[in-house]
Amino acid sequence: MADVLDQVDERETRINEMRIQAIRNAGRELHPIGECHWCNEPFDAGSPKLFCDATCSTDWGRRKR
Ligand SMILES: [Zn+2]
Repeated sequence: MADVLDQVDERETRINEMRIQAIRNAGRELHPIGECHWCNEPFDAGSPKLFCDATCSTDWGRRKR
């Protein structure tokens, strides 16, 4: 019985680690997509911006954490 619980626990821990890793990677590998990553406001073609302003950037960062 304890073994089964340990296995479930271990699997959940691994899933959580993967989620955390995915969030970290998203933050590190954020690149311009032609629109705001937070509110999807479209930018001019070729714009290197990630967010339309600091508010979106802050909100995005807060959500990720
Ligand atoms: Zn925005």
